[in-house]
Formats: sequence, C-alpha cells, structure tokens
Amino acid sequence: MNKAVFLDRDGTINEDMAYLYKPEDFRWIAGAKEAIKYARDKGYLVIIVTNQSGVARGYFTEDDVKALHNFINDELQKINTKIDAFYYCPHHPKSNIPKYKAECNCRKPKSGMILQAAKDFDIDLSASFIFGDKERDILAGYGAGVKGEIFDPKGNLFALVSKYI
Ligand SMILES: [Mg+2]
Ligand SMILES: [Zn+2]
Repeated sequence: MNKAVFLDRDGTINEDMAYLYKPEDFRWIAGAKEAIKYARDKGYLVIIVTNQSGVARGYFTEDDVKALHNFINDELQKINTKIDAFYYCPHHPKSNIPKYKAECNCRKPKSGMILQAAKDFDIDLSASFIFGDKERDILAGYGAGVKGEIFDPKGNLFALVSKYI
C-alpha cells in the first residue's frame, strides 16, 4: 500500500486569495514547494484536497481549476517534483447551477475526497497525514482515519510537514 500527505490548497500551499483561479494571482506559501518535494522524496504521495465552491457560485469553471492545477505542477516540475493528484469539490448546497447544487460527500469537512484518493491510489490512511489551514481540513482527515495538524498560513509548511515525516 501507499502512504500520502494530503494538503489543502488555498491557505496551505498558496496564499488564500478569495476564489483564486488565475495563475497570475497564485503566490506560494513559504516552504510549500520544499514540503512537497520533501514528502515525495520520502516516499509519500502528495495529494491536494480542496473545496472549490467558486465553481458552484459561478465565479470560475472546472476548466479554470484544472488549468491552475496544471500551472502548479509546471512550477513544481522546475524543482523535479509534483503533486500526484488534485481532488477538488466544485459543489455547494446553495448553488444556482443545478449540476453543482449538492449536499455532496466531497466538500470538507466531509472525507469523500480523501476516501476516493485512497481507493484510486491504494493508500494506507493510517500511515498518512493531512495539513490544512482550517479545522474542516483536519476534520476531513479524522473522518477518514488520517492524522494531521492545522497549518498557520503565516508559517512555513516545510517546518510543519518535516515534524511528522
Ligand atoms: Mg484552506
Ligand atoms: Zn463536492
């Protein structure tokens, strides 16, 4: 089985601008690239799990989300690392867009994205970790049996991740 470091996106690997989707607005958090490379070099899959209700709110599209994620991996390729997979929740219970109006199981604090990743990548969740800037990130982890710690976006992500692995 594999083990993984699950990371929230906004406020954890990049500065949390409200409803970020443009690559030109993307700003790395201190130590984030280093943390990703370090975790992969230690044999962990690195998987992003991110609520993107901006899709449900009509602020941007799923294609915008995917383009931003491609941009993130282009940046990481420069230091010979990558995010192994991105899972995002495009839903919101109050969306005006029928396709995205849902009480889904993926929107954190629910654990759906983590459970789906575990299935897709044969992940031992008890040997995995989650880091995110909100309590809902940690709750999503706990619901799937993944330990973790809240990250302060003013801090350094490498310092936190390297405390655990
Ligand atoms: Mg966040
Ligand atoms: Zn969802």
